[in-house]
Amino acid sequence: FLPHLVASMEEVEQTYIMIKPDGVQRGLVGEIISRFERKGFKLTGLKLFQCPKELAEEHYKDLQSKPFFPKLIDYITSGPVAWEGVGVVASARKLIGATNPLNAEPGTIRGDLAVQTGRNVVHGSDSPDNGKREIGEFFPGLAQVVE
Ligand code: UDP
Ligand code: MG
Repeated sequence: FLPHLVASMEEVEQTYIMIKPDGVQRGLVGEIISRFERKGFKLTGLKLFQCPKELAEEHYKDLQSKPFFPKLIDYITSGPVAWEGVGVVASARKLIGATNPLNAEPGTIRGDLAVQTGRNVVHGSDSPDNGKREIGEFFPGLAQVVE
């Protein structure tokens, strides 16, 4: 397992990264995957699929009461990917940048590649527990660390 990048497996986390439909339509899949690869994370699963409405609603259930929820569900038809690595959850959030691309620093994915919150090209899990849970939801059978 990437012995030149990771000294010990103990701290390895998993995160669920979802390139949102605008990212796929704009041809940014390679660019976004490349940023995670160059950082040193290991790709453990990848699939291109249309997210069923029920799964999108489950995924964003914490935002159910927000006025933008119906639009968000319409927007999320996705090609998801899963990564593992040391500190990958927090690190992926940094690589991705702030939710509103106007507040995202240059150098981040959203800072460089997006302009609107409602089209912010990528999702990343916000905690190790949610990383595990989301991988379980989107990649049934891939919840374990893949050697
Ligand atoms: N979102 C939106 N309007 C808002 C806030 C969020 O459309 O005012 C969307 C946006 O696509 C965001 C997603 O809902 O990425 C999930 O929101 P969250 O606060 O979890 O942001 P994230 O974790 O993606 O940065
Ligand atoms: Mg979130």
